Amino acid sequence: MSNEVNPFESLQEQIDDAAVHLDVEDGLVERLKNPERILETNLTFERDDGGLETVRAYRSQFNGDRGPYKGGIRYHPGVTRDEVKALSGWMVYKCATVGIPYGGGKGGISIDPGEYSEDELERLTRSFAKELRPIIGEDRDIPAPDVNTGQREMNWIKDTYETLENTTEPGVITGKNLDSGGSEGRVEATGRSTVLAAREAFEYLGRDIADATVAVQGYGNAGWITAKLADELGATVVAVSDSSGGVYAEDGLDPVAAKDHKRETGSVAGFAGADGEISNDELLTLDVELLVPAALENAIDADLAEEVSADVISEAANGPLTPDADDVLTDEDVLVVPDILANAGGVTVSYFEWVQNRQRFYWSEEKVNDELETIIVDAFDDLIAAYEEKDLANLRTAAYVVAIQRVMDSYDQAGTWP
Ligand code: GLU
Repeated sequence: MSNEVNPFESLQEQIDDAAVHLDVEDGLVERLKNPERILETNLTFERDDGGLETVRAYRSQFNGDRGPYKGGIRYHPGVTRDEVKALSGWMVYKCATVGIPYGGGKGGISIDPGEYSEDELERLTRSFAKELRPIIGEDRDIPAPDVNTGQREMNWIKDTYETLENTTEPGVITGKNLDSGGSEGRVEATGRSTVLAAREAFEYLGRDIADATVAVQGYGNAGWITAKLADELGATVVAVSDSSGGVYAEDGLDPVAAKDHKRETGSVAGFAGADGEISNDELLTLDVELLVPAALENAIDADLAEEVSADVISEAANGPLTPDADDVLTDEDVLVVPDILANAGGVTVSYFEWVQNRQRFYWSEEKVNDELETIIVDAFDDLIAAYEEKDLANLRTAAYVVAIQRVMDSYDQAGTWP
């Protein structure tokens, strides 16, 4: 794992790699590579012992040419201004890759949420919602869950916003609990698209995901659902890990039982249904057919990439490969399905949630999953078409070529305002 690579520089490099294949006006490149605006603010909140604490929080609105800014809010000690900038840019190109009518944004608070009580997290989240209120809204900027946030935090933000605005506007945020206007299928959506994208990648190679062995790094919402759905498709999940360690089972392990163990103990480490323990780096270099990095940025740098043995990588995390790792894997013919397609199920079902909120008419889980599959399969086909027609280096560059073109088209058609 490389901590030295700045994710914002990675994003800019990915855009540059694609821009050379497009007719981009010089004066537009900087726009495509930089956020429109960033809110950086103090959140001061009360601890349970009555003391005050101030933490730093951000919301980056990267590009709104294709629609309202859209993207999650992350609670993690690694949150920085540059990380949020990168993540917001990846959202722009993710939404464009799957063709949903949004721009991109991202927010975060630099904390370890494990150090706070639920009451403290509620006060902190509501304080963030108060700061966000003037710049969010269902037609303006629509937050969602990300690392260490979920339905609970989304419900608090929705409630704070609606109370201050004296309205009901469930579409101001997505990833809500079902009773607060959430959508069926939203919790599973990121893992579902990661598996659908992997399935398409194996099919493209003339192979069947059902024959694949799978290793999953990261066992949060995206990782564990990916393991579960891959297992349901007949693949064999041989290794899973989280920040405290990992486990390995040659003949496959039960992803649901591994999740139950994590729920009880806080980690997959020590799971009895496995042959033994494995480190994160060992997992990432296992000789498996499918590798799923589902944790944080920069999980695989160039050195580790030299050791990767998988045939296909489907990126459930945002930015898990450094650009140098990408080059190594391209040289070694590893088929990498990029994050901006593979994990786009999350924001795609957020889009369905927002559509349902605005219509006040709710879909069945079957309809959600069917519509999601159509979008992911069509987007995968669009990337393959660009990859083959333009003879591009890899699917990541193909995704950026497709996505940047879509952003530029929206910008061009809007025209410039004097
Ligand atoms: N945080 C997720 C992502 O990185 C979901 C964003 C959303 O639903 O808006 O794609």
